[in-house]
Amino acid sequence: MNRDTICVQGGYTPGNGEPRQIPIIQSTTFKYNTSEDMGKLFDLEADGYFYSRLQNPTCDAVARKIAALEGGAAAMLTSSGQAANFFALFNICQCGDHIVSSSTIYGGTFNLISVTMAKMGIEVTFVSPTASEEELDAAFRPNTKAVFGETIANPALTVLDIEKFARAAHAHGVPLIVDNTFPTPVNCRPIEWGADIVTHSTTKYMDGHGAAVGGAIVDSGNFDWMAHADKFPGLTTPDESYHGITYAERFGKGGAFITKATAQLMRDFGCCQSPQSAFILNLGLESLHVRMARHCANALAVARFLEKHPKVAYVDYCGLESSPYHALAEKYLPNGSCGVVSFGLAGGREAASTFMKSLRLAAIETHVADARTCCLNPASSTHRQMNDEQLKAAGVPAELVRMSCGLEASEDLIADIAQALDKV
Ligand SMILES: *Cc1c(COP(=O)(O)O)cnc(C)c1O
Repeated sequence: MNRDTICVQGGYTPGNGEPRQIPIIQSTTFKYNTSEDMGKLFDLEADGYFYSRLQNPTCDAVARKIAALEGGAAAMLTSSGQAANFFALFNICQCGDHIVSSSTIYGGTFNLISVTMAKMGIEVTFVSPTASEEELDAAFRPNTKAVFGETIANPALTVLDIEKFARAAHAHGVPLIVDNTFPTPVNCRPIEWGADIVTHSTTKYMDGHGAAVGGAIVDSGNFDWMAHADKFPGLTTPDESYHGITYAERFGKGGAFITKATAQLMRDFGCCQSPQSAFILNLGLESLHVRMARHCANALAVARFLEKHPKVAYVDYCGLESSPYHALAEKYLPNGSCGVVSFGLAGGREAASTFMKSLRLAAIETHVADARTCCLNPASSTHRQMNDEQLKAAGVPAELVRMSCGLEASEDLIADIAQALDKV
């Protein structure tokens, strides 16, 4: 099926007389006739459901759609994007291990890896997304277990050279995990470029309406855990907490990663998505391919307008020819990147504040990827504990405005931006 068709119909095919729309199975548990029937589920010998913390038919149908969209072998939903990235990493890293990560990643993920996972004894080396092959190579250690990056970073908007990062990861016998939240599989499928595991904050474009927080993990099924058995004992040796199952042997390359993440991490941490949220997510997915095109067209129109405006000092958008990431965007994102544009006002922090106050359509929100245009000045919100020097070093100078272009008419957005700039 074409990607657009998967958006609409993937993951769920009703039988004769069954509901056309994915049913919301709002049930914590499932009934069996015999204890033996249920025992087979616990032994992972039969497919089926027993408790919605582990698996639920509504969530599974939506996960199947996301797996198909990314061209993966298996997928699972999580309660949030944060949970997805934590599970993806913690499924193969334990105390004493090490991660190589791009430095321009979402602030929440940066904190997760550099502070919270450090408390679990997992270390990280951050590398520039523009690191050379030699610089990447030098970041690895014998205990490195994963490489992490974002296809388009939030909010830095850098574009990851997925093939280069995948080559480095594979040369050291570890998988590349890519957070593909901003482009979505409509604009980029990282697995086709060598990524092994893909994560999402489905809260963003996949939902697309600011309605439900959620996340997803997709496994390509390409990484050969058994070929690097000594590095990944959690997948390649018996799990005594689960009847001595060796995931990579029992479920193969295509099933081991997601089965382990479900049987162990979802069992123990419980960051599951509710069937209601999964249903809302699926409504978003049904129009994802149509919406992404408009988000990207609006962002490009806004970026082009801003680039020519005398009160705007600079514009970051990889769709612009002036962007240092334009060549990478042409390679990995030929149909468009995302709806988020960052720009700096020549008048600095005060100009940014006046500008944002004067907007009528674009709302000030800690959110991106909504149908409604929104914007944020990181210096006065998410990064307000930093001084101007620190803000600059973090790549979010005081005058920076991040605007997430929604699905409105571009001429209305530009008119709103123009009148707000007039007030500056
Ligand atoms: C928002 C976001 C996250 C975190 O997702 P939540 O659903 O808010 O937990 C992770 N990665 C990226 C790229 C994001 O934009």
